[in-house]
Amino acid sequence: MKFLSTRGGQAVCIEQAIMSGTAPDGGLYVPESLPTLRPAEFDGLDRIDQIAARLLAPFFDGSTLAEALPAICAEALNFPVPLRALEDRERPLSVLEMFHGPTAAFKDVGARFLAACMSRIVAGGIYAEAPVTILVATSGDTGGAVAAAFHGRPGIRVVVLFPEGRVSPRQQHQLTCWGDNVLSLAVRGEFDDCQRLVKAAFADPALRSRHRLCSANSINVGRLLPQSAYYAKAALELQRLHDRPGSFIVPTGNLGNGFACVWARRMGLPIDRIVFATNANTTIPDFLDSGDWRPRPSVATLASAMDVGDPSNMERLRALVGDVDALRGEVAAGAVDDDQIRATIVDEYRRHGIAWCPHTATALYLYRQLPAAERQRPWIVVATAHAAKFDTIVEPLLGVSVDPPPELAEILSWPSRFDSIEPELDALAARL
Ligand SMILES: *Cc1c(COP(=O)(O)O)cnc(C)c1O
Repeated sequence: MKFLSTRGGQAVCIEQAIMSGTAPDGGLYVPESLPTLRPAEFDGLDRIDQIAARLLAPFFDGSTLAEALPAICAEALNFPVPLRALEDRERPLSVLEMFHGPTAAFKDVGARFLAACMSRIVAGGIYAEAPVTILVATSGDTGGAVAAAFHGRPGIRVVVLFPEGRVSPRQQHQLTCWGDNVLSLAVRGEFDDCQRLVKAAFADPALRSRHRLCSANSINVGRLLPQSAYYAKAALELQRLHDRPGSFIVPTGNLGNGFACVWARRMGLPIDRIVFATNANTTIPDFLDSGDWRPRPSVATLASAMDVGDPSNMERLRALVGDVDALRGEVAAGAVDDDQIRATIVDEYRRHGIAWCPHTATALYLYRQLPAAERQRPWIVVATAHAAKFDTIVEPLLGVSVDPPPELAEILSWPSRFDSIEPELDALAARL
């Protein structure tokens, strides 16, 4: 299958779409068409990697990665993504736990799949020449997932930029404990400075070609595609259990995760409603209300991985669905402020004795706001990170300690090191 920019332009193969990240015209790569699959085509497949290989096969058809796709899926999706039933059959509520990967957030899925694809593309030597340097700016979760996924891969180097003193202590540890082919740089500035530096480096032709710079940011289609697979798995599982399609509430920032859910439904999976939960960055719900797309600077919230004022993947969603009326027919959205996040974390802990992260809390809040009749559908809330990653927020609210899961505990036991740089391109270039 070929991939096109949301703004038109020439079709490219999937290898090129993955290695270049963004299209030359500034648009985002999307597949030229979406396959439709019948649920029966997944009969006998239970594991996430098997479902992913089946679902994604049409996208890789004709590419140099087609044959390796099952191995790529097995390697990348080697941790559980369980659907945990929380409440009864009358008002069935389940949580899709996306935090059992190495860095305890759903971004492990996309980052690991991207790494498995890129390392094969680089080894093949056709679309990229080793060594390549992946340059990534992070406000927290992305950098850790990318560093973990690419650590130790031959022919690929990773440089992570994070804002010094502005990520949670556990997030910082995940960014700085790798060594080997991963270089972590603390930028004396804010996330916006990190992002500006990355953009400036990509815009410098000499720097770009000398280091063969590649991006692994969340708009890379290689991160987006595999995210549809866990919606497929959860939807099929729920359909078998309740004989009805499931509805999803997705914590949303840059809209990659939510968009992957829309893709899964368009590909024929049994998915009913889709609701995007945002924090106080309300660009998406405001758009659905007013019809005006008004991106704006982000504001800081407790659900920091969702602090996005200009969600990039809206461009893909609009290209797929059409105008705002069509969009209202497909998805809904609601905003949740910090007080509501705090109250939800406390309230849900009282109900079920489970600590949820601030991002997951936005989706649980919207679930509790649904009218009773709506809650008779089977709903799935997507849990995007483990509460232990956000211990400094969750523990004081609950008055209990939240232990990291084994994978995270392992990472936290490693020594960490990083260098600091001024927020200038020269300083970055000197370290590349
Ligand atoms: C990145 C992230 C989100 C937002 O996902 P998008 O794909 O950007 O919408 C939500 N929760 C957590 C924990 C994240 O790391």
